Amino acid sequence: MNYYSLNKKAPNTTFKNAVVKGLAPDKGLYFPESITPLSKSFFSNIDNLSYSEIAFEAIKQFVSPDIPEHTLKTIVKETLSFDFPVVKLNENISTLELFHGPTMAFKDVGARFMARCLGYFNQKNTNEVTVLVATSGDTGGAVANGFLGIKGVNVVILYPSGKVSDIQEKQLTTLGQNIKALEVNGTFDDCQAMVKTAFLDEELTSQMQLTSANSINVARWLPQLFYFMFAYKQLHGKHKDIVFSIPSGNFGNICAGMVAQQLGLPIKHFIASNNANNVVTRYLISQMYEPKPSVQTISNAMDVGTPSNFIRIQEIYKNDFDALKENMSSYSFSDDETKKAILEIYNDYNYVADPHGAVGYLGCKKYLEQQPNTHCVFLETAHPTKFLDVVEDVIQNKQALPPQIEAVMGKKKHATNIDTYLDLKNYLLK
Ligand SMILES: *Cc1c(COP(=O)(O)O)cnc(C)c1O
Repeated sequence: MNYYSLNKKAPNTTFKNAVVKGLAPDKGLYFPESITPLSKSFFSNIDNLSYSEIAFEAIKQFVSPDIPEHTLKTIVKETLSFDFPVVKLNENISTLELFHGPTMAFKDVGARFMARCLGYFNQKNTNEVTVLVATSGDTGGAVANGFLGIKGVNVVILYPSGKVSDIQEKQLTTLGQNIKALEVNGTFDDCQAMVKTAFLDEELTSQMQLTSANSINVARWLPQLFYFMFAYKQLHGKHKDIVFSIPSGNFGNICAGMVAQQLGLPIKHFIASNNANNVVTRYLISQMYEPKPSVQTISNAMDVGTPSNFIRIQEIYKNDFDALKENMSSYSFSDDETKKAILEIYNDYNYVADPHGAVGYLGCKKYLEQQPNTHCVFLETAHPTKFLDVVEDVIQNKQALPPQIEAVMGKKKHATNIDTYLDLKNYLLK
């Protein structure tokens, strides 16, 4: 598969190059040249396929011929070494739990897949690659964990000081080895802007091979399409029209779901559930795309003012506003509404949701008011104990820490404080 730049001013390139470079030379995001639907029999036979088999078939066209099939099988199998259960709350609402990976965030899958692709591409290469990544919370931990110990790859993670949870901070600052954390005096948008500036800085890029591990990187973004297939495997036959509510920040996850739909997966509708950072919700109402600086919320992994993948969604719908609106709704919820939802889910279903999942749940409820005959699956994108303060405060019940989280809490934080882009540059060059 070759990839083109959405800015359309750079040559098309291979999967390998798209992964190693992250962003095209014209600063555009890469997008696959074609998406060929999978066979009908693939979907009718999905019950007989394992998660790894489903994932292998679904991703094959996007990585071939750069990764041979037997290697891809191994990569997929190693990536997906945990469960993705659907839990039913009621006749109309289920949740797909995406938090059973090593950092208990859905980003584990993309990070593990990308790390293994980069490791494969780099195996004979003596040139080191530096993965530079900005995180609003969960990306950092997932990338740190996914890339830990991968030869020839250094990872530098920027996170906004005081704006990620304690657990998230521990997950990205305690691993050591090839993983370095930079604590930025600023917001997530500041972190993301610094990373973008670094990619454009020729003085820097002439001296080191930089790549991204945010969902702008195709190897981080595309594997997320697996989730929608895993949910379908568990739900099809039981429910007719399946819709997904995706708690969205940079819109990579939902956009991967749209690729799954292009591959033929029968998804009736997408709901982009937002917190107060609601540029897309406003766009679907006004048709005016007006990014705003991000504001801090209790679902901080979605505190994104300028969602980087929205341009890929526009590409999927060929910039046709009506086609997009037909296929996707978007709602925005306040922190108060989110807390009430956490309590409601707990009281009514005896289920503990994290703030991001709760925003997804609210999206389901809103959509079901108009479309009561659908089954809505909200993605639980993080384990509730990763947002312990909020969750325990709302449900007034102590939560036990899962072993993955317990293990990092006692470790010592190592981070370097930076204020400006120049600090970042000096750090990278030293
Ligand atoms: C990253 C993240 C999101 C948002 O995902 P996008 O692909 O950026 O839209 C939602 N919830 C959690 C817990 C996350 O870590």
